Amino acid sequence: MHAPIGTGGQVHGLAPATIAVTSGRPERTPGGPVNAPVVLSSTYVSAGTPPPGDLLYARAGTETWVPFERALADLEGAALPGLVFGSGMAAIAAAMSLVPHGGRLVIARHAYQVTLAFADDLAARAGVEVVRVDIADTAAVTAAVQGPVPASLLWVESPTNPMLEVADIPALVAAAHAVGCPVAVDNTFATPLGQRPLGWGADVVVHSVTKYLAGHSDVVLGAIVVDDADLRARFEAYRTLHGSIAGPWEVWLALRGLRTLALRVGRSQASAAELARRLATHPRVVEVRHPSLPQDPGHSRAKRLMNGFGSIIGVRPVGGAGAADAVVDALRLWVPATSLGGVESSLERRRRFATESLTVPDDLLRLSVGIEDVEDLWSDLSQALWTLPEA
Ligand code: PLP
Repeated sequence: MHAPIGTGGQVHGLAPATIAVTSGRPERTPGGPVNAPVVLSSTYVSAGTPPPGDLLYARAGTETWVPFERALADLEGAALPGLVFGSGMAAIAAAMSLVPHGGRLVIARHAYQVTLAFADDLAARAGVEVVRVDIADTAAVTAAVQGPVPASLLWVESPTNPMLEVADIPALVAAAHAVGCPVAVDNTFATPLGQRPLGWGADVVVHSVTKYLAGHSDVVLGAIVVDDADLRARFEAYRTLHGSIAGPWEVWLALRGLRTLALRVGRSQASAAELARRLATHPRVVEVRHPSLPQDPGHSRAKRLMNGFGSIIGVRPVGGAGAADAVVDALRLWVPATSLGGVESSLERRRRFATESLTVPDDLLRLSVGIEDVEDLWSDLSQALWTLPEA
């Protein structure tokens, strides 16, 4: 009998779509389950000096995290298991702990708005100098990382949320490492199917698992993946000390969602490219941002570095913020909601949040394309845009 694949050990040499389905399965035993069970127990039987690695108490570790942590690491190309956290922000807070008091943080100016708020909080309570950069401008990021004094951490998001700028991650990693600065990449938008930053030398990858990885808008979860044992131990200790842990049901749901990642991402990316192409010539549209469009500033870089162009589109309708709100109101299929990466298509005007960066246009709609039929999505979008008066 051939050795089973993906049960227990790391998965080598398989395509990402296969890894998503295969990794983190239980050992293959006659009569055994094909899926990992959910174990609901806050504590474990133990007495005396606990042997290293034994499960003791569920804040420090539970078996229900293990299959997801293995599968995500395999998708990101990491030998070490990932670390699941209670939310994307909990994972981000852990990663940001690399910035010491009084350190310098260089961060994408259009990173997720709550990540930016976290950075501002570090500035206020820990004297951290926060330098916001255009992450697509490699020369500007390199200069910011170099200094006056070298940065303590470079925070990359690519494509950015919501402006969809595309970073040259390999070049940024080289520039940061040249001055001893570690690099963290929020890989939520691209997913590990779109890019694998650890393979380019990035030190830390973070995810809002809430989005594409779980994929059904029914859990809030985060994760970190690193391939350095000391760094992993540090983040694991952080998670235990801060208690920023995930519940077993959420992790089980995320693993269930992860199994269909390639199908969902493949479908939504293809639909996003088609919708972006049509939106670009719609008479009621001023500007469309999607890296698939040849005229998009991120196109050639995304083509070179990414596998696919992602499923988020930026659209500015004619008539300003009021018109953008009217489009949201006129849609019947697209769901007006924050968040992204679910099977359902959704959208929002980002500047409805007072906290969104002021460099994000007031009238920008962020569209998250789901897996519905693309013609149905187009009919709804197009009819909503046609309700707008001519400019
Ligand atoms: N990173 C990105 C790119 C996001 O879009 C989000 C949430 O929208 C987060 C991180 C935060 O993740 P969570 O909402 O799971 O805490």
